[in-house]
Amino acid sequence: MKRTMTSGLTMDTIVSLAKRRGFVFQSSEIYGGLASCWDYGPVGVELKRNVKEAWWRSVVTARDDVVAIDCSILMHPRVWEASGHLESFTDPLVDCKKCKNRFRADQLHELRCPEKPSKRPGECGGELTEARQFNLMFKTFMGPVEDSSAVAYLRPETAQGIFVNFRNVQTTTRKKLPFGIAQVGKSFRNEITPGNFTFRTREFEQMEMEFFCHPSEAEKWYRYWLEERFDWYLRLGIRKEHLRLRDHGRDELAHYAKEKGACADIEYLYPFEKGGRWSELEGVANRTDYDLKRHGEFSGKDLSYFDPATRERYHPYVIEPAAGADRATLAFLVDAYDEETIISAKGKAETRVILRFHPRLAPVQVAVLPLSKKEPLMEVARKLYDSLRVRGLRCEYDVAGGIGKRYRRQDELGTPFCVTIDFDSAEDGKATIRDRDSMEQERVDLEQVFGFVQAKFLGDAR
Ligand code: ATP
Repeated sequence: MKRTMTSGLTMDTIVSLAKRRGFVFQSSEIYGGLASCWDYGPVGVELKRNVKEAWWRSVVTARDDVVAIDCSILMHPRVWEASGHLESFTDPLVDCKKCKNRFRADQLHELRCPEKPSKRPGECGGELTEARQFNLMFKTFMGPVEDSSAVAYLRPETAQGIFVNFRNVQTTTRKKLPFGIAQVGKSFRNEITPGNFTFRTREFEQMEMEFFCHPSEAEKWYRYWLEERFDWYLRLGIRKEHLRLRDHGRDELAHYAKEKGACADIEYLYPFEKGGRWSELEGVANRTDYDLKRHGEFSGKDLSYFDPATRERYHPYVIEPAAGADRATLAFLVDAYDEETIISAKGKAETRVILRFHPRLAPVQVAVLPLSKKEPLMEVARKLYDSLRVRGLRCEYDVAGGIGKRYRRQDELGTPFCVTIDFDSAEDGKATIRDRDSMEQERVDLEQVFGFVQAKFLGDAR
């Protein structure tokens, strides 16, 4: 695929396109907005759904060793004691004594103070306090009485629902090790410094999978899932030079991986600053037998596994690829962005903005564009649009304005194919399909449009 723009992209460009075209709006905008909370608009929700669907196909549907689950967000408070989150799910926080803002102590080098003119924390002349640990879990109360016995937490990760259901899932599915349990759902973290659009928010969606295996095979599966998850982004069109793996140093390992585990991040080069900044897109961790053992201890229920072939009983090790649906959606959006200069029909140089989404991720798969509002042209176009839509393609129908403008609009939505219906279509039963990337046009029988477009979305489920 030809790309003309590989650098110089800023987040401002992405945020303004996202708003202009209905990908992402500020939450509660008419009330002045709620900081760091975002709403996905009509095309954004489709894009994010497609990202989650592609993940599900790859991690669940296309495999015979992974099943899925959908757990509640509120869980028994003891879960968070056992998991270590109450004690250890903290970030170091410092306060500025002058402007009273709070910052994550381990991110001071990349943060800016919200006061204007915006400076690095402490550069306003204010003294920063010593770092202290701040727990990131959101607290609430269950039921009508707001006392300590009613405290509940919004889950900070979906993984714990999987661990506490390990026995239920294993016995009902009769799965033998190794096998995985996947879950997609919302998580909540009271982040000290949210920001960078949808990258770091307090409410977000995760796509997590816990892969249970024999301890002696943990290293092998850890390597396998790192590679598999890295490749998934490449298969869906992320540019190789924008993706990298970074192993965690001993000092940054999560509490569950401190002793025998390991973690690595799949990082994307987000355009948060000039030249881009490498930031975590997905984490892959060897969580060892930490979680199952702890839940066994705290609940008094045995969560070990018995292997009938070897007659061995043990606590499985767990390999976890944990991706963020919002961060992945943002990465696919940023990476798809391209601009090129084209010469219009009137001979003028124009900038064409294109979102070069992989066809499977494109919010709109096909746009049907009648060349004029006259009959029988409109009737032919409408019939085609109806038939494509009811067969499951994500379609748009657009009759407003000149055809050039309509193409530009679809390019900015990332629609891979535009089908134009012209005056000949009613006579010869054909339409013209325009390819988003090459802008080449092909004449196809109306009956074959569905097959033509659908063929581009099929292929390997992974
Ligand atoms: P970070 O270091 O950026 O705070 P993390 O290492 O705490 O992230 P994990 O606990 O590994 O994140 O969570 C798995 C994934 O969930 C992350 O890779 C990311 O994609 C997503 N995620 C985590 N926190 C947030 C957040 N505040 N907003 C959006 N997505 C998030």
